[in-house]
This record gives sequence, C-alpha cells and structure tokens, in this order.
Amino acid sequence: MVSYDQIIIGGGLSGLAAGIRLARFGFKVLILEKHTIPGGLNSYYFRQGRLLETGLHAMTNYAPPGSKSAPLNRLFRQLKLSRKKFPTHQQLRSTIYFPDHHTLSFSNDLDLLRREVKRLFPESLDRFNALVELVSSHDPFVDRPWASARDRLAAILDNERLTNMLLWPLMMYGSCNEHDMDFDQFVIMFQAVYLEGFFRPAGTIKDFLDTLLDHYRALGGEIRFRAPVKRFWISGGLVGAVLLESGEEIACRQVISTAGYPATLGFMAGDNAPAEEAARYGGRMSFVEIINVLPAECRKDLRGDETIIFYNLDEPFDYRRPEQAVNVDCGVICFPENFRDLEPGAEFQLRVTHPANYEVWKSFDPVKYAAKKQFWADRSSERVGEIIGNYREKVVYQDVFTPTTIEKFTGKVNGAIYGSPVKLKEGTTPLSNLFVAGTDQGYLGIVGAMLSGVTMVNKHIFKEN
Ligand SMILES: Cc1cc2nc3c(=O)[nH]c(=O)nc-3n(C[C@H](O)[C@H](O)[C@H](O)COP(=O)(O)OP(=O)(O)OC[C@H]3O[C@@H](n4cnc5c(N)ncnc54)[C@H](O)[C@@H]3O)c2cc1C
Repeated sequence: MVSYDQIIIGGGLSGLAAGIRLARFGFKVLILEKHTIPGGLNSYYFRQGRLLETGLHAMTNYAPPGSKSAPLNRLFRQLKLSRKKFPTHQQLRSTIYFPDHHTLSFSNDLDLLRREVKRLFPESLDRFNALVELVSSHDPFVDRPWASARDRLAAILDNERLTNMLLWPLMMYGSCNEHDMDFDQFVIMFQAVYLEGFFRPAGTIKDFLDTLLDHYRALGGEIRFRAPVKRFWISGGLVGAVLLESGEEIACRQVISTAGYPATLGFMAGDNAPAEEAARYGGRMSFVEIINVLPAECRKDLRGDETIIFYNLDEPFDYRRPEQAVNVDCGVICFPENFRDLEPGAEFQLRVTHPANYEVWKSFDPVKYAAKKQFWADRSSERVGEIIGNYREKVVYQDVFTPTTIEKFTGKVNGAIYGSPVKLKEGTTPLSNLFVAGTDQGYLGIVGAMLSGVTMVNKHIFKEN
C-alpha cells in the first residue's frame, strides 16, 4: 500500500496552506481533493468565456508588506512566499446600511469609522473607542467557553443600533451562530475587517490558487483531484489508512481534515456515521450568491463607488436562517472591481449575497429548481435596486448559487459556509493522529483558513515529529 507522512483531506485554502508548510519541511505529504480544481469554497468556474469567482468578495486582514507582525505577513513568511511579490489592491470604502438611512462607512483606515460613529452616534464615541482598545488587546485564540458578543457589546456600547450595525458585516462574513456570535470570533473578525481591512490580490482567484499550487508542488507536495475520501481505517485509536471512494487505500502517519467536522466524523464511522453527533456540529447559516455581469456604461447610473455595502432593511435586525428560501431584505452587495488601482473593463460584476434556507432549497422539485433561482434573483435585484439603482434589465449574464450548490461542491453539510456552531479551537479529535483545520477549527475567511492550516501543522505535526 502506498504510504505518506501526512494526508490532508481537502484542497481548499486551509489544506493548501497546511500542505505547503509540511512540504517546506521535507514531509512526504498528499492532499486529497474530491473536486477537479483547488480552492473549495473559494474557487472559480468558467461560463460563456468568463471566469467567475465563487468566494472572493475581498480578502480580510490587509497589511502593507513592511508590517512584520501582521497576520497576513506572518502567513506569507510561514509559507515561504514573498509578500513583496504579491501585489494587492486595497478597498475603496465600504458601507453598513440600515433603516432610516443610517449608514456607517469604513475603509482600511480606522479613522473613517471613528468619524462615522461620531457623526451618527456622537454620544457613543468614547464607548466605541473603549471597544477598539479592548479588541486590540484581547487574545481570541485562548481556548475558552463560548461567550455572547452581543452581551459584551451591550455592556460596552450601550447602544443597540450601533451594536447591530457593527455586528452585521462581521456576522455576514463569519458567524456560524444565528442571532449572536462568540466574543472571540467577534474579536477575530473585528480585527480582520475594521482594524486591518479589505483587499484583493492582483489577478483572479485562479491566479492566486495557481501560485499556491505551483509552490506546493515545487516543494515536493503531491495533490490528487477527483479523489473523494470515504472513510478511515482505524486501529488502536489511530488512523492507519484512508479509504477513497474508488476503493484505493493509502496509509499515513497523520491526517489533517479540512472537510468540516461533521464530514470528518463520517469518515471515522464509515457507514455507521453518528448522525446525532454530526447533527450537533451541523451549521444552519447558509447563503445564496447572485453574480450579475453588467456593461461598463451602466455603472454611472448606479450607486457604485463603494467596494461592499452590507445592507439590512429588516426591523428588528436579526442574523438568522430565513423561513423562506432567501431573505432579500438583507445582504451584501459587492463590486469586485472597486479596489484601488484596478483598471475598469468593458464589463463589471455586481455580486449579491443573501441569507438562505438550506432545507427549503433541498426540498425544491429538481424540475423547478432553475425557475426558483430565477424567481429569487429577480426579487434580489428589485430589493438591491432600491439601494443602488435599477440594474435588472441591464444584466448581460447572471448566475446563482444556492446552499445546495455549496454542499454539492464543497461537502459543507447544510451548505453552511461558516461551518459548525461548535468550534474545535485546539484542532484535536478523539483520534490522536487526526486533526481538524479550516472553518470548523475556528479561523474564518480566506486568510483565516490559511492561518488555520499553518497553525495546526505548527501545533500538532511539528510537535510530534
Ligand atoms: C459566496 C461566498 C463568499 C465568500 N466571501 C468571502 C470573502 O469575501 N472573503 C473571505 O475571506 N472569505 C470569503 N468566503 C469564505 C472563504 O471562501 C472560506 O472561509 C475559506 O475558503 C474556507 O476554506 P477551507 O479550506 O477551510 O474550507 P473549504 O474551502 O470548504 O475546503 C475544503 C475542501 O475539502 C474538500 N472536500 C470535502 N469533502 C471531501 C472528501 N470527502 N474528500 C476529499 N476532499 C473533500 C472540498 O471539496 C474543499 O475543496 C466566502 C465563501 C463563499 C461561499
């Protein structure tokens, strides 16, 4: 039987980062990816000659190359990638949009958000500054029990509208919990979004993934696509080998799974998957994403000078799985071309994300599925049009992906992008040579997923070898 030092399940960003870190130190490592291309949640596909990205609105945790201790630059060092040869484009400005035309804009300079808080909530500025100080000095990676961010914010800010407005982008970009989020997760996201900020790499996500994959292979790492893992062979509390759907068995000393904890529990139990245990770790928050392609000339008619608009028109505000298929009363409007120094093309994209209900999408008759997508895309453009101006008739290409699409292509149970509501911060499992990295370990987003892969390798694999 062929044998490796480590097997990594999943060629998403956490798996690629873990693989690079291991290959860099001479381990014989194999990534098994069930899809035909890398990237997982953050990937791409081609339609009518256009490259469409699945995940990337913006990367979080912006830092200029010189800032040595910044998470982004630490990540690059750990992966032995040159940050200076990684050109980036910072966001222009983003806005949180609530009822009564309450808006708060922010950029990669915290002063803008401070000024905006002072404009809209002058009585709360001192409290907001106290929150920034607390977040700056809080270590969110200590293993502690879940604590309500909402309760902490109520005590610090004493202003429900400000609390909700600050929470909204952080929840949309990283909360696996409904209504609330863990205070440590809040701190990670606050630092990533408001203190460090948004950027995107030059080029497409395909270019970024190609760079990572080439680097991994150049270091001696191996990857197999179309290689879905079915289960583990377990002996004496250790994974001894991994069984693929094809029937092939591959032996290994250690495994890092990035497939999500419910799926990983399934690998442990094989055909006797512990349904109750898996249900405990199944997330409920999923989303639809509508990618609209528009001709450049209609940009002037739209409110289109921001990078991202996080809008919520629901009263009272709540972050939760909707009862119906999609909640178009709230969402994220992203203009992926609106980053500094990007040249406008003949077309531009408008990407819109809304909370969605996995069960409802799953229950749709397959024959009516396409019509349902069109129905909700139309409702979305009507609602979003109220904020940025009407664009519906000008769309030259549109694609919609739903919670079931996410589950199909990434294996995320319930299409839950942010994974399990219970995070395994230590990354350990009942099997002493099996570790979890990625979304269910607790770091979120693209940079977060990569940091998770690297951190789990440093913490568990390097310690034991
Ligand atoms: C619509 C959308 C918008 C987003 N926007 C942003 C954004 O703007 N900024 C940001 O930072 N993040 C964003 N994200 C989130 C970000 O993409 C993810 O947090 C990150 O990519 C997660 O990486 P991961 O490696 O942990 O998991 P995944 O990407 O899920 O990787 C897991 C991999 O495991 C593979 N796999 C699963 N089961 C098996 C199996 N049995 N055998 C073999 N392989 C298997 C999957 O195919 C997948 O490739 C967005 C995500 C989506 C879907």
